[in-house]
Amino acid sequence: MPRLIILLALAGLAWWLWRHVSQKLTAGDTSRPSSSRSQQSSQKLVACEHCQVHIPEGDAYTDHDCGKTVYFCSPEHQTSWQQQRD
Ligand SMILES: [Zn+2]
Repeated sequence: MPRLIILLALAGLAWWLWRHVSQKLTAGDTSRPSSSRSQQSSQKLVACEHCQVHIPEGDAYTDHDCGKTVYFCSPEHQTSWQQQRD
């Protein structure tokens, strides 16, 4: 008889633990932040100095010309602009 009580107690403990863990996992899923995408779409667009293609400021390659910042769509366009300037 005492063996059955221990078995029931263990089963109860296992059930309680399972409930506790699964509740925590569900709460973690719903509170996960999802704002990284909306931040990227609100970025300012800049024109490539070489081909005038517009790119997000964060993705652009930058250089400086007489104190002002110039933007490029690719490192290749940055290099050719630098060569034209020299
Ligand atoms: Zn370009």
